[in-house]
Amino acid sequence: AQRLTRLAELVRDVPDFPEPGVLFRDITPVLADAEALTVVATELAALVGDADLVAGVEARGFLIGSAAAVVAGVGVVPVRKAGKLPRVAASRSYALEYGEATLELPDGVVAPGTRVFVVDDVLATGGTAAATCALLADVGATVTGFGTLVELAALGGRAALADTEVHALLTY
Ligand code: 5GP
Repeated sequence: AQRLTRLAELVRDVPDFPEPGVLFRDITPVLADAEALTVVATELAALVGDADLVAGVEARGFLIGSAAAVVAGVGVVPVRKAGKLPRVAASRSYALEYGEATLELPDGVVAPGTRVFVVDDVLATGGTAAATCALLADVGATVTGFGTLVELAALGGRAALADTEVHALLTY
């Protein structure tokens, strides 16, 4: 519990970002602190369990997802915003408050039947995480769970991920 208190102290509240009225939880100081980054990596790695692979969601999910994957002894696959990958296995669009976003999974790295643990930095409405789980299902992978550094509980992300076990190191 003390390890997690240290993480909570490092998450920085930024009012009115990316737009007025939104309180952004900035995890950058957690990443920059050696001890805190180790806590994040080891806590998430414990949740990886018997999964074969970690999926990290662009962009901060790449950082903590790969840290967790190294500790867990598995590889990592990046789930990218549209237009970044040369070969795409699956693509999913989802609604944002204004407009929509598209996430893509690279071709040729997630075989059918692969057990994948999904990692991102923040769970808010759950749209990003749900699209990621859908991408993995599209290629025949099994999502073993979703792990996040921060859960913004009031935004209802858990409900959007009803079929997926959700683990949060910090909940606001
Ligand atoms: P959702 O799709 O669950 O509404 O939003 C989650 C995605 O948006 C994550 O990929 C996360 O990086 C980003 N995000 C939303 N709110 C915040 C926030 O307060 N802080 C940070 N660091 N990321 C956020």
